[in-house]
Amino acid sequence: MLEVLNLSVKYGDLQVLFDINLSVRDGEIVSIIGANGAGKTTIIKTISGLVKSVSGEIRFLGKRLDKLPPHLVAEMGVMQVPEGRGIFPLLTVQENLEMGAYVPSARKQMRESMKKVFEMFPRLEERKSQLARTLSGGEQQMLAIGRALMGRPKLLLVDEPSLGLAPILAREVFQTIKSLNSQGTTILLVEQDVRQSLALCHRGYVLENGRIVLEGTGSALLGDERIKRAYLGL
Ligand code: ATP
Repeated sequence: MLEVLNLSVKYGDLQVLFDINLSVRDGEIVSIIGANGAGKTTIIKTISGLVKSVSGEIRFLGKRLDKLPPHLVAEMGVMQVPEGRGIFPLLTVQENLEMGAYVPSARKQMRESMKKVFEMFPRLEERKSQLARTLSGGEQQMLAIGRALMGRPKLLLVDEPSLGLAPILAREVFQTIKSLNSQGTTILLVEQDVRQSLALCHRGYVLENGRIVLEGTGSALLGDERIKRAYLGL
């Protein structure tokens, strides 16, 4: 579904991604793990068109993405749940969700999408008339995911969904990602919670200083001595 080929990215003179190669197949959850500053968010932002690459290619369903502006990437079915959630605090929950259906094809199906999001997150329906800023952190994360779902994604890019959440809420978020995937959404996940994210994914990539240094199935990576030492404190 997604192919990233020899991707390099710079911010000004500072190169942060070096020859990244990764792929996501239809139906998978693929995780990218790595320390703070390794370049995980930059990969997500480059796929969604917010950051431009200096070389390499990104292909989605066989078509080049990397020359497109973000709204056309979204139009192709690639939606991002940004790090920090990026909700609109002074809009209601319902208005935030409506904002997610900005892509013309998604706008036509807004009512049906909203129904699905409320089935998945009943708490959002209970709170649909509240201002988004009054939601708890976990609910705001659900709202950010729900808003992306309103765009009818084929591929969902999820950046650090557990950040700032209590462990019990983080587990709920991971459960949500799992059930979204089992209902057919393909997911590329960036996470600092290495244990949970490797347990959840089909395949994973390890990013260090802008380079992919290891890849494998989630279970193989979880059992890898280097991962245990560097990321799991074992
Ligand atoms: P984190 O988990 O902290 O978000 P990350 O792995 O997602 O880390 P990135 O946010 O992609 O890492 O950042 C990679 C590198 O690029 C870091 O050194 C960061 O300081 C730098 N960087 C990120 N955004 C910019 C920017 N807009 N301008 C300049 N440098 C940036």
